[in-house]
Amino acid sequence: MTDRYAVFGNPVGHSKSPRIHALFAKQTGQDISYQAILAEKDGFAAAISSFLAAGEGPARGANVTVPFKEEAFRLATRRTARAEAAGAVNTLSFEAGAMIGDNTDGAGLVRDIKDNLGTPLAGRRVLLLGAGGAARGVILPLLQEQPSSLLVVNRTASKAEQLVTELSRLASEYTPGLQAGDYASLNQQSFDIVINATSAGLDNSVLPIPSATFAPDCLAYDMVYGRETPFMAQARATGQAGLRVADGLGMLVEQAAEAFFLGRGIRPQTAPVMATLRG
Ligand code: NDP
Repeated sequence: MTDRYAVFGNPVGHSKSPRIHALFAKQTGQDISYQAILAEKDGFAAAISSFLAAGEGPARGANVTVPFKEEAFRLATRRTARAEAAGAVNTLSFEAGAMIGDNTDGAGLVRDIKDNLGTPLAGRRVLLLGAGGAARGVILPLLQEQPSSLLVVNRTASKAEQLVTELSRLASEYTPGLQAGDYASLNQQSFDIVINATSAGLDNSVLPIPSATFAPDCLAYDMVYGRETPFMAQARATGQAGLRVADGLGMLVEQAAEAFFLGRGIRPQTAPVMATLRG
């Protein structure tokens, strides 16, 4: 019997997860099926129930995308610490009547930055732009890498402050270097790693970031993928020595690899999958 997996979202047609998981399964010789399921906006729990009940083989797991990550968090019967910190679940594992909720976004980002882009986070000054779901999901995994500081800046500064307060309550051992601010607070500060977790790139909005934000040898990372965003162009335009620019495709593939590992116990190679997707 083939183990069944699916990604749930609305919309979901654009999701690259079925293709990525099919490539992982082929590469590792795993016999799985993986489908994209469009759930009604108010029908996520019902769609999960149907998926569990129907089908040829056992339902083993699900990936969850916009707008259901918070609902998946509530639906899970157990949650990992990183899901608790994220306040959202992007991976559900079905085990003997239990529904275990995890969040692999932060692990995916950290792996992409450290392993694929060869940039250590330990001891570095990190700036995280944005305070939405994506930003929240990556804060704890970033802090666990022990950067010297992590500043979260958001257009609506109160949301960044709220995130920092909540994270400080949930994981105080990691949060001494964690601070919140607005764009004006960037002033003349410089950072070694600047991560754009805003959706500004989707409508080509320009973020008010001074050139000095990007230190020499800085990594400028945009979670948006598949296009050159104004943030990426801004970083390049500084002409800063040693500066590198990356989009979020690596994060997307690495978070999927982490979910695949949770489901199958095998870690797939991500480089060939990234190359295929970029091709
Ligand atoms: P949310 O809608 O939850 O949050 C959006 C964030 O962007 C908020 O902080 C918002 O600020 C900020 N923002 C939006 N427009 C502007 C603007 N014009 N100027 C300044 N700030 C702006 O989205 P998510 O957090 O879920 O996703 C953010 C991005 O990350 C998306 O583009 C998504 O595609 C990408 N992403 C990529 C992943 C990957 O694997 N590569 C995984 C997850 C997300 P405010 O609070 O002030 O409104």
